Amino acid sequence: MRLYDTMTREVRTVKTVHPEFARIYACGPTVYRDAHVGNMRTFLVTDLIARGLRFQGYRTQVVQNITDVGHMADDRGLGDVDEGQGDTEDKVLAQAAQTGRTALEIAAHYEAGFHRDLGALNIYPADNYPKASESIDSMVSLIQQLIDSGNAYIATDKSVYFSAESFPGYGALSGNKLDQLKPGHKFDADTSESAKRFHADWALWKSAGAERTQLTWETPWGRGFPGWHTECSAMSLELLGDSIDIHTGGIDLRFPHHEDERAQSNSAAGREVVGHWVHAEHLLFENRKMSKSSGNVVLVEDVIARGFDPLSLRLAFLQHRYRSQMNLTWDVISAANDQLNKWRAKVNEWSHSVSEPMAQKIVERFTELFFDDLNTPMAINELRNLEKDDTVSAGSKFETFVHLDSLLGLDLAREIGKTLTIPAPVSQLLDQRAQARANKDWAASDLLRDQILELGFVVTDNAEGQQVTTT
Ligand code: AMP
Ligand code: ZN
Repeated sequence: MRLYDTMTREVRTVKTVHPEFARIYACGPTVYRDAHVGNMRTFLVTDLIARGLRFQGYRTQVVQNITDVGHMADDRGLGDVDEGQGDTEDKVLAQAAQTGRTALEIAAHYEAGFHRDLGALNIYPADNYPKASESIDSMVSLIQQLIDSGNAYIATDKSVYFSAESFPGYGALSGNKLDQLKPGHKFDADTSESAKRFHADWALWKSAGAERTQLTWETPWGRGFPGWHTECSAMSLELLGDSIDIHTGGIDLRFPHHEDERAQSNSAAGREVVGHWVHAEHLLFENRKMSKSSGNVVLVEDVIARGFDPLSLRLAFLQHRYRSQMNLTWDVISAANDQLNKWRAKVNEWSHSVSEPMAQKIVERFTELFFDDLNTPMAINELRNLEKDDTVSAGSKFETFVHLDSLLGLDLAREIGKTLTIPAPVSQLLDQRAQARANKDWAASDLLRDQILELGFVVTDNAEGQQVTTT
C-alpha cells in the first residue's frame, strides 16, 4: 500500500516493522459533542487503510483514543472555539457546565454516539479505545521520563512543560520553525501560561489551580490534569509500543497536536516512533466550514433523518480523494444514496445467475488504484464501467462487486434473497408517508418513518420513491 506521508511529503510504500502485522494509531474524538460528518470522513480513512492491509493479508491492530479530558477549547490554535466556551476551558467540562451534567455523563453520552455513528458507516471498531481519563498513570510515567531525560521541566506554577528546544527535529512534520513560532503568534495558544521558559514550549501536565475541581489527579508535581498532546503519546506508546507503522488524523492535527506528540514520543523512545503520518483533508458542508458557531454542523443522524442510508455518506466520501478538501451537499448525499440502491438492486439481480470467475482485469485495476494512496474515486469508476460492460457475464459481475466490497464496505450484497412481505399496518403507514412527502410535510414523514421502524422496517427514499427493507 502506498500512502502520502506528511513527514517526508511524498507518496511512499507503507513498510511495516513486522512483515505481517500493521500497527495503526488514529486520533479519536473529543467526547463533548456528537462527531459530525467531517469527523466521520477522517475516521473513515483509517478504516480504509486497515481494510486494505487486511485485504493484503496483514493482521492489524488499530488503537483510537477517546479524549475525555484535557482538550482545551483553544488547543488547536486555529480559532476552533465553540460558542459559549472560553478559550482555555476544557471542552468536556465546559459542556458539562453548560448542560448541568457531570463530565462523566457528557463523555459517556458522546462516546456511545461515536460508536453508534461508526457502526452506521461500517467503520470497523478499533481494537482498543483507550480513554485519556483512564490512562493517567501512563501519562505520569511518560512525563516523569521526559523530566528525567531533560526534555521537560517543572515550572513555578507546578505545571510541567516540554522544552521544544530539547528536541532537534521540532517542526519537521508541520514545517513550522521554532523561531517563526514567536510569542503571540496565533499558534501560541498557551497565553495564560507565563511560567514556561520558551515561547514554543507546551504543557504536558497542567496545574489545576484553585478553580478546577473536576477531572484532576494527584501527581508528584501537584494536582492537575494532562495536556491533550501528552495523551496521544502515552496511549500510543503504551498500547502499540515504540514503532507505530501508521498514524492518522485530520489535517488540522498536523500542528501543534502531532508535531508535539512526535517530539514527546521520539524523545521518550529515542527513535522515530511513527513510520507514516497520514492526514485527511477537511470536509466542508454546502461550501462552508463545519462549526457549531456558524450553525453549520451535520451529523450522521441528520442524514438518516432525511431518509438516506448512512452508507450513502460512505459512498460520497469514497467518491472523493481523502487528501483533497471535499464539499459535501445534500445533493451529493442524495445521488450517492441512489447509486447505492441501484448497485444493491443490481447485485441482487446478478446473484440469480450462475456464478462465474471474477473480472480479473477490473479487480487488478481497482486494487492498483485503491492501494495507490487510496484513489477510491478512480477505483469506483472501474466498478461503474464493469456494471455497464455487456461483455462480462452477470455471474462474474456479481463475484467482482461482492469481492471488492470488502474494501469499500458498502453492503452491496444487502438485498440478496430479500423478498419482502410487507404487513398491512406497515403498508398503510407507507401510504400515509408517501402522502406526507408529497405535501412536503417532513415532520409527519419523519414521525411515520419512526413508526414504521418500530414495526421492524426501515424506509429510505430515492428517486423512485420509498424503499423498504427489514431492520
Ligand atoms: P475532534 O473530535 O474535534 O478532536 O476531531 C476528531 C477528528 O476529526 C480529528 O482527526 C480532526 O482532525 C477531524 N476533523 C475535524 N473537523 C473536520 C472536518 N471538517 N473534516 C474532516 N475532519 C475533521
Ligand atoms: Zn491525538
